[in-house]
Amino acid sequence: MSPDARTVASERPSDVEVSRFGELPDGRPVRQFALRNAGIQVVIIEYGAVIVSLHTPDHRGEAGDIVLGHETLDGYLQHSPYFGAVVGRYANRIAGGRFSLDGTTYQLAQNDGVNHLHGGARGFDKALWKGTPVREDGAPGVVLEYVSADGEEGYPGRLDVRVTYLLRAPGELHVRYHAVADRPTIVNLSQHSYFNLTASPRDVLGHVLEINAGRFTPVDDTLIPTGELRGVDHTPFDFRAPSAIGECIAESDHQLMVAGGYDHNFVLDRVSDRSLALAARVLEPLSRRTMEVRTTQPGVQFYSGNFLDGSVIGKGARRYAHRTGFCLETQHFPDSPNHPSFPSTVVRPGATYAEETVFSFGVED
Ligand code: BGC
Repeated sequence: MSPDARTVASERPSDVEVSRFGELPDGRPVRQFALRNAGIQVVIIEYGAVIVSLHTPDHRGEAGDIVLGHETLDGYLQHSPYFGAVVGRYANRIAGGRFSLDGTTYQLAQNDGVNHLHGGARGFDKALWKGTPVREDGAPGVVLEYVSADGEEGYPGRLDVRVTYLLRAPGELHVRYHAVADRPTIVNLSQHSYFNLTASPRDVLGHVLEINAGRFTPVDDTLIPTGELRGVDHTPFDFRAPSAIGECIAESDHQLMVAGGYDHNFVLDRVSDRSLALAARVLEPLSRRTMEVRTTQPGVQFYSGNFLDGSVIGKGARRYAHRTGFCLETQHFPDSPNHPSFPSTVVRPGATYAEETVFSFGVED
């Protein structure tokens, strides 16, 4: 698959710096791509298409790294709950790791209790992608390509996947996903960065969050959607007006208790099906950093870092304690292949899977 027509191989290395990040145990080198524009600097590696670091200025103009992760490849190989990675072939959970397509039942890895999570034992987060620096209308970027073989992790069909990261405008990181299959298959790709806009070891409970969703998908006690689209009215899931992440997280709400906090898919209120629409906004009151997420996808998983327990030591020898990072994973709904009423995640030969998410970073005065 070639990059988009409007995207050309980069000729000016100054704002796309390519260097070596590390080496896999089998000797294959892993490169890193540092992109910068006026507002931000982001470093992406070929392993897992991971965002390793993302520096943005706070209200005093001081740059800080606002994503969790590791300084070395070994950190990602040994201890990474999907830090910064592109997750797939199917982001989020599939019940029992099983689904049927065109009359055939497929059994995928059960790598999260009885369920399948984020593509299985070796999902796209553990793949070595091939990176190419690009420019689009002057904006620096990197295209990462990966070919997922027919049968990989139990999924049917070969899938050619391309993820493009672009700094389109000051403070704007665009993530574009494309995939084509040679047999009918299922696809759901997402970006799994853990954010902490304080750029510090503090927890994220003070971040003020807004989610553009009047409904969410409640889950059973293995975090599989029940199929209901439940209204957020009078629940801790109502983020239509900005509210601190910590405000209701300790309430004795059944959904919060089964997930140990927020770990739920929100059904975005979309005006049209295919355009970029607001998913979420975040304001961190101390640094006054802001983040806005827009997407073409129908849902967003808000995960409040409930499984972080201090056991992973990351950048700057920092222990990632409970709820010191949160994720906003734009996606199709979890377990869609087993819920015909959810938007379809089936991709057939001849069709192109194409989604886009834009993260915009700024500061509030
Ligand atoms: C899931 C969580 C999971 C986390 C890291 C999130 O996308 O929703 O349940 O623990 O990824 O594995």
